[in-house]
Amino acid sequence: MNNRNVNVCPWCNYHYGENHDANCIYGRYFPPERATDLENACRLFGFSNLLRLMHSVRPNEREATANSILREGSVWTNDPVQGVLGKEFTLTSQIESFERELESTNKLLNIIEVKEPPSSSNLMK
Ligand SMILES: [Zn+2]
Repeated sequence: MNNRNVNVCPWCNYHYGENHDANCIYGRYFPPERATDLENACRLFGFSNLLRLMHSVRPNEREATANSILREGSVWTNDPVQGVLGKEFTLTSQIESFERELESTNKLLNIIEVKEPPSSSNLMK
């Protein structure tokens, strides 16, 4: 939904169908610009489960929990087929590629070090 009102609290909008309830304690963890991610997370896990999850964590864990919920929603928005698993495959593949590149670069450095003649400063000693 691109024509969403950015002043609406997405948590209250989902919970009450209203803009913002005075007793809203979770709205600050779900900014309006992340409403689509929350909507996708709700579609994926169900709002009642997310509400139960937010109730179950300690207050100092709410922000991390909300960020995790929004991240899940975002990942599933970008990859509706594989979701988090697709993201893991992509990142694992990138790590393996960088490790191969690092190994190749280290081999080249070893060859260069072996072939490098002694520097003039070493000859003077
Ligand atoms: Zn709210």
